[in-house]
Amino acid sequence: AQMRYADLRDKPASDLKGRQISLQMNAGLMADLPSLEGSGAEGVGLFRTELQFLIRNKVPRRAELARLYGLVMDSAGDKRVAFRTLDIGSDKVLPYMKPQDEPNPAMGWRAIRVGLDKKGVMRMQLQALVRAARGRPLSIMFPFVAQFDEFREARQHLIHMIEGERRLGNPVPDYDKINIGAMLETPSLAFAPDAFFEMADFISIGGNDLKQFFFAADRENERVRRRYDTLNVSFLTFIGMIAERCKKFGTPVSFCGEDAGRPVEAICLAAMGLDTLSMRPASIGPVKHLIRRVDLGELRRVIDASSERGDQSVRSSVLAYLAEIET
Ligand code: PEP
Ligand code: MG
Repeated sequence: AQMRYADLRDKPASDLKGRQISLQMNAGLMADLPSLEGSGAEGVGLFRTELQFLIRNKVPRRAELARLYGLVMDSAGDKRVAFRTLDIGSDKVLPYMKPQDEPNPAMGWRAIRVGLDKKGVMRMQLQALVRAARGRPLSIMFPFVAQFDEFREARQHLIHMIEGERRLGNPVPDYDKINIGAMLETPSLAFAPDAFFEMADFISIGGNDLKQFFFAADRENERVRRRYDTLNVSFLTFIGMIAERCKKFGTPVSFCGEDAGRPVEAICLAAMGLDTLSMRPASIGPVKHLIRRVDLGELRRVIDASSERGDQSVRSSVLAYLAEIET
């Protein structure tokens, strides 16, 4: 299989009608970066920054982070890397953080909530990113944004940081080269005011969290995790709605949860209107292979028809469509 996908590396992920999907990879370590070349990914759609904080017994130093982020950008070259600021919560306890006793840590004090309440660490990380960029284009996204104000406030911190660096005489990227995005991981953000969609430079759907909150089914709980299909009509309709709203405002939107790396799920997400999918590097070949064999417009009609029939999940209709085109 590895060989078969290697042939696809330099081919576009376009469907039978020529609709192009951008396939990107998720990463979190410097060691992941060589895959950017090998997999044929167009960029890093999600760079998780937690690891550097988890492997130490104290907060990493700004210079140390700046050096690492700089190396990541160097090795990505012209390809874009979307750095996600620290997504830490009481489930991923930092050894040097006072443990929080929370009954539902996934819905607790985590991610941007910690960042906005304890600004020191977030500011340090933002400064490390700006310094690492040394005037190069920079993409930063904030995790787990549940309402517009959280994004507005975090974005403001970043802008202040950039202005401060400029006053210090440090090189900073021009504003048109700074992309500030939000991760859409709670259903609430999909219903944010129009102004949010206008302000965000891009939106990245964190499908793992979004799905758990959409169905109220813990992503870590084996008993309920598989109960709700990603190809459930309600969920796909919701994804379609998000894609529509983003399109209306010209806000680029991608999907970076694990489902983006499952070929059948990936083509359905694309059929619902998402043009960018970010996944583990090994999934890029299989996803591209399937995209190139289908007509996403026709697939959308298959999905809509299944929904109109009252199916709970479109999976069997989609599999029947795929079986049909294979013959
Ligand atoms: C997600 O929630 O889908 C996501 C990409 O972030 P994480 O898996 O790190 O929570
Ligand atoms: Mg998440």
